[in-house]
This record gives sequence, C-alpha cells and structure tokens, in this order.
Amino acid sequence: MNIHEYQAKGLLKKYGVAVPRGGVAYTPQEAETVARELGGPVWVVKSQIHAGGRGAGRFKDNPEGKGGVRVVKSIEEVGKNAGEMLGHVLVTKQTGAEGREVKRIYVEEGADIKRELYLGLLIDRATGRVTIMASTEGGMEIEEVAHNTPEKIIKVAVDPATGVQGFHTRKIAFALGLEGKQVGAAAKFITAAYQAFIDLDCAIVEINPLIVTGAGDILALDAKMSFDDNALFRHKDVEELRDEAEEDPAEIEAAKHSLNYVKLDGNIGCMVNGAGLAMATMDIIKLYGGEPANFLDVGGGATKERVTAAFKLILSDPNVEGILVNIFGGIMRCDVIAEGVVAAAREVHLHVPLVVRLEGTNVELGKKILSESGLPILSADNLADAADKVVKAVKEAA
Ligand code: GDP
Ligand code: MN
Repeated sequence: MNIHEYQAKGLLKKYGVAVPRGGVAYTPQEAETVARELGGPVWVVKSQIHAGGRGAGRFKDNPEGKGGVRVVKSIEEVGKNAGEMLGHVLVTKQTGAEGREVKRIYVEEGADIKRELYLGLLIDRATGRVTIMASTEGGMEIEEVAHNTPEKIIKVAVDPATGVQGFHTRKIAFALGLEGKQVGAAAKFITAAYQAFIDLDCAIVEINPLIVTGAGDILALDAKMSFDDNALFRHKDVEELRDEAEEDPAEIEAAKHSLNYVKLDGNIGCMVNGAGLAMATMDIIKLYGGEPANFLDVGGGATKERVTAAFKLILSDPNVEGILVNIFGGIMRCDVIAEGVVAAAREVHLHVPLVVRLEGTNVELGKKILSESGLPILSADNLADAADKVVKAVKEAA
C-alpha cells in the first residue's frame, strides 16, 4: 500500500525525521489558509498523487505547461496555483498517458536548497536485510542514476540484530559529502527513518530529494512510503491513510474478496486455484499462441460468491475475449466449483467462450453439472487441451 507525500512526512516527523512545515488542502481557500499559517515569504504548492515525477510532470489542460510542484511568493499565488492543480489531471513519467486527477495538495514552506541528495530504504531480497541506499544525485529518478552512473549509489545493509549503527550513518554521510554538524544531523535523520521503516513494516521509504539547506540543515523535501500489505493488519492507523481513489479499482475489488489478481495485457482471462498453477496456466496459454489477460488465484476455499466475484473481475477487463478456468479440486470439491462456475456464468450473462478444466475430487460430478447446465461451456480434459480449446475458441469468435 502507498500513501501520499504529506502523510509520509507526517509519519516520518513523528519518528524525528526533519521535514519542512506544511499542511494539506482540498480547496484553493484551504491552501491559502495553510499558507497564511505557515507565514512566508516562499511557499511550495505540491500536487498529491501516488506517483513521482510531479515536478517535471504536466497537466493535461494547462497551456503554459506548468508542473505539479511549484514555488510561489504570495498567498494569492498559492490559491491560484492550487486552483490550477485541484480537479486537473497531472501526467508524469509514472502515471502513464492517462494521468491522475489531483484531489489534494500540500502547501509547504519554501526551502533554500543548496544540494539535492538521495536516501532510500528498502528490503534487499539478496541479503534479506533492510538496505539503505544513498546518492549525491538527488532530485532525479534513482533508476536512471542506477542505470547511467551506478558508482554514484552506495548501499549499506543493516543487520536486524543491531539496527542502524554509527558506522552505517557515518559511511553514508561521508559518501554524500556531508561535513561538520551535518554528519550528526544525518545520523539522527537516517536512524529515525530506519526506526519508522521497521516499526511500520515498510517496503520502501524514499527521500528524494534529501536536501542540504543554505543554513546547512538536512531536510526531507520529498517522501515516499510504501507498506507491506501482509503486515497492515497490525497498523490500523496506517491503513486509515489508504486513498482508494489512487488505486486500481479491479485490484481493490479483488482484495475485498481475498483474490490475488494482477491485470495483464492479453485477451484470455484466467481463473485458477493456486499461484503455481496460475503461473503454469499463463505459460501454457502462451505456448498455444494466446496471451493471458490476467493472473488470478482464487485460493483454496473458493465459494460460489468468490467464483462469481472472480468472474466479474475478469470480465471487467474489456480486452477479455475468452476465459479459461483451471481448477484442481484437492481440498475443494469439483462439484462445488462447477456449481459456482455455472451460477457465476448465469449471473454475469457470460458473453465470451468459457473453457473449464477440472481435476480432482468429484471430478465426474463436476463435469456432469457443467454439461447439464445448458450453458455453452467447453469442458477440457487436461491443461494442454484446455489451452488449445480456449485459444481456438477466441480465434473463432473473433
Ligand atoms: P517529484 O517530482 O514528484 O519527485 O516531487 P518533489 O517533491 O521531489 O519535487 C520536485 C522538485 O521540486 C524537487 O527536486 C525540487 O527541486 C523542487 N522543490 C520542491 N520543494 C521545493 C522548495 O521548497 N524550494 C525549491 N526551491 N524547490 C523545491
Ligand atoms: Mn521527488
């Protein structure tokens, strides 16, 4: 789960990470009120969407081509710029061409930027440790730095038994070219960010840019936080920060029904139980010349309701021209699955070819239910047969 920049800064601040003062606003009037409270003379008006690259992004309908992060010098300009952002669609490198509507903005006190650095914390799968990444090349996408000048990124893996130590923070501070009191300030900053990462079960904490001000202070000018979904149950306060308007509607619906759904680009919808079988199903569809429209694991205890929800989800994708149901009834009985498939197909008025491959407990009864349903369901005997049938059916229907 991701959250907005202003929310991330709010959480990080509680842990002692230095952030500029600011306030969220939903209207230009609120933005002006926040600006007045902050006092001037410089403010930054920042579009809040779950995507980076806002500074270099462009609004679909702004002829002057102004970006999603703007530095202004009067209260009136704060209101005016907030009005040009709120309700307008911002397109950045990370949003895709369709962009994202800005519904909230963050008004911050302006910072006097001397240097823009990068600091990121993430879990490195190779070492299994929280790894701190830092670079002198802040303000630009870290992927680009990693690609063009990998030597400019340093990585420090933290032993979970000790947590962040002085030698970690000194190594990072010196690599960033910090000196004097900044070394201590960086140590406090990094230790606080690490504590937030651990306490809140984060997947990513990214500060880009981390700045050194003219006065020599260290501040998080931008902040991105992403959380481990599997640990959210123990962070109700974090879960409350969820902004569903920023999430894929199909994936929200899937999560409600405990379905693991990932949308893909093909035209053959897949409904499978078990992640491994789902992967194998996608592979074999490709082997027979088709393209899967999604990954969907309905899990072990698929009820009729869940199968129906899964069908609706698959069909909500306009690219789907055929569906392959591949279920192995181990714990689950094939007749229950078949009843679920038939009920779901009726309820959603299925309009594309449906191939069902069942195997396992009560498979004969399951097949009987499918064939007696009167629905145009194609039954398959094995995985290869199923893939072959669905690819052919989609070609014939086209
Ligand atoms: P992103 O483009 O979505 O990553 O948004 P950021 O919050 O990183 O802002 C983009 C850029 O705007 C930063 O790299 C800074 O160069 C600039 N910026 C942000 N806040 C301030 C500020 O307070 N003062 C000045 N002068 N520039 C700022
Ligand atoms: Mn940024």
